[in-house]
Amino acid sequence: FLSGGSQSEEKPMAQVTFDDVAGQENAKREVAELVEYLRNPDKYTALGAEVPHGVLLMGPPGTGKTLLARALAGESGVPFFHISASEFIEVFVGVGASRVRKMFAEAKKRAPCIIFIDELDSVGRVRGAGLGGGHDEREQTLNQILAEMDGFSGHEAVIVLAATNRPDVLDPALLRPGRFDRHVTLELPDLDAREQILKVHARRVPLSADVDMHAIAAGTPGFSGADLKNLVNEAAMAAARDGKRAVDKRHFDDMRDRILMGTVRTLAIHK
Ligand code: ATP
Repeated sequence: FLSGGSQSEEKPMAQVTFDDVAGQENAKREVAELVEYLRNPDKYTALGAEVPHGVLLMGPPGTGKTLLARALAGESGVPFFHISASEFIEVFVGVGASRVRKMFAEAKKRAPCIIFIDELDSVGRVRGAGLGGGHDEREQTLNQILAEMDGFSGHEAVIVLAATNRPDVLDPALLRPGRFDRHVTLELPDLDAREQILKVHARRVPLSADVDMHAIAAGTPGFSGADLKNLVNEAAMAAARDGKRAVDKRHFDDMRDRILMGTVRTLAIHK
């Protein structure tokens, strides 16, 4: 179980770039500032500049936090280490902390690089609230993450991005200077952004002339990026089942209604 799959280094991700992230202009701009540093960290350290290590990506599920982190790796051409914090709480005491330690050690060897911690809130909730009297697995893992964040010398080009959709429950210790002190917010997409996201995901999908992405965007308020990606995919599958060579407006409309009726609880707006 020690070699479990909760951490992995991925290749500079099948080159995800900022173009793959539609909308989210503010978040992209803030994250893009780190590209130059990751490409050329020595330029910064030579001037004694201390670049922040910890960036917290906040926003509802499916708004592109993971995608943005991967795009940063892709744009910078650096290794991407991905760890899902929620998996720590299911393993034995000490294992989560040891995985964190190993991953940071590995990342430092591979610097410049990016560590991405998904679902930070699952280990990062305010301490002392559990039954374990301060010794439970979750707390040890959190303490290890804090120790690792404090352990950077300032010259190591490792950027740690963490994602959460519950910034309100995070232990304030995580947000202190030197830890996750840069905060980037991702929002549910507005009309314009929804249209752009639909277009990104329909890039390789043949569409009938009656498909109007602006109209589909107008009919999907509250959909996240992940919901819109799902809609395009479901519409394409419906068209394939119909034996069509292109996706019609009808396929989009049907699937939108099904998503709204069937899995309405998965939509971020209903959280
Ligand atoms: P969670 O909080 O549930 O982990 P997340 O914010 O990390 O969600 P992602 O996993 O990045 O969201 O999004 C899921 C998928 O939805 C992405 O792989 C991407 O295909 C699509 N998506 C989300 N946001 C966008 C966006 N702004 N532009 C294009 N695609 C998007």
